[in-house]
Amino acid sequence: MTATLIDGKVVAEDVQRETARRADILRSKGVTPGLAAVLVGDDPASKVYVNAKARTCKKLGLYSEVITRPATVSQNELLDIVKSLNDNDKIHGILVQSPLPKHIDELSITLSIRPEKDVDGFHPHNVGLLLMNRPLMISCTPYGVIKLLEYYKIDPAGKEVVIVGRSNIVGKPLAALLMQKGRWADATVTVAHSRTRDLPSVTRRADILIAAIGSPEMIKGDMVREGAVVIDVGVNRVDDVTSEKGYRLVGDVAFAEVADRASFITPVPGGVGPMTIAMLMSNTVMAAERLSGS
Ligand code: NDP
Repeated sequence: MTATLIDGKVVAEDVQRETARRADILRSKGVTPGLAAVLVGDDPASKVYVNAKARTCKKLGLYSEVITRPATVSQNELLDIVKSLNDNDKIHGILVQSPLPKHIDELSITLSIRPEKDVDGFHPHNVGLLLMNRPLMISCTPYGVIKLLEYYKIDPAGKEVVIVGRSNIVGKPLAALLMQKGRWADATVTVAHSRTRDLPSVTRRADILIAAIGSPEMIKGDMVREGAVVIDVGVNRVDDVTSEKGYRLVGDVAFAEVADRASFITPVPGGVGPMTIAMLMSNTVMAAERLSGS
C-alpha cells in the first residue's frame, strides 16, 4: 500500500474534544446540550447506530434521550413525538433514525422537525440554505468528509471531484458543499450514479474520488487515477464465516488495490463512519448554543 491512511478515528476524537469543550462552556451557563433520537422498529443496524450516538453523548457530557416505538407506530403518533421534542427546552437536537416503516411518510416527519433542531440537516429548509451557501445545519456525513479533507490539508479548490452516488443524505449535500465558493470547497464537481455512462472513465478523471454507493468494493484499482485521494463512504456487510458475527464490514472501494494507486484513502471501518457521529454531536452543541443565545 502506498497511500496515506486517512484516520477517521483520530479526526473524530479531535472534533469531539472541541465539542466537549463547547459543551462544558454551555453547562457552565446552565445549558446542557440535549439530543433526542427516535427509533422505530427492530432494525439491528439502527439500534447499533442509536446506541452509539447515545454513548457518545454521555462521553461528551451531552444529555440524550432515546424514544423507541414499535414498527406499527402511526404517522400521527410520530408527528406528536416530534412536536413535543420541538417544544422541549432540554432537547436541542432531534433525529429520527431511518429507515422508517413503509406506512410512514418520511418527508412529513422530516418537515415536522424544527429546522433549528434538525441536527441531521435533512429538513428542506436546511438543504435549501446549504445550496445557497448560507448553511444553518450541515448534514453529518458530508460535513464529516469535509472535516477529514481539512484535517489532512487536502484542499479541493480547483480540483476535479467525482462523487459516485446522488442520495439526499450523502451525494447531493456533499456536491453542494464542495462546489460552493469558500474554504475547503471551490471544487469542480461531477456527480455520477447508476445511469452514468462509462463510470470508470468518469471516476478516473477525479483528483478526489468519493464513493457513496452502497455496493461492496465496487470501485476497483483501474477506476482510480494514480495519486488520487479516495474517500469511501460506503458501509456494507458481507458474509464472513471466519468472523464471530458471521459478517464483516467493507466499503464501496476495493481497499487493497485502490490503496496501491491512491495518495490518500479512508478505511472502512474507521474512516468516514466515526466522523458522522462526531459531526452529529458538534451540530447538537451548535444548536444548543444558538437556541440558548450563547
Ligand atoms: P443510496 O442507496 O440512497 O444511494 C446510492 C447511490 O449510489 C444512488 O445515487 C445510486 O444511483 C448510486 N449507485 C448505485 N449503484 C450504482 C452503480 N452501479 N454505479 C453508479 N452508481 C450507483 O445510499 P446512501 O447515499 O444512503 O449510502 C451510500 C453508502 O454510504 C451506503 O453503503 C451507506 O451504508 C453508506 N453510508 C455511510 C454513512 C457513514 O456514516 N459512513 C452514512 C450514510 C451512508 P441512482 O440514484 O441512479 O439509484
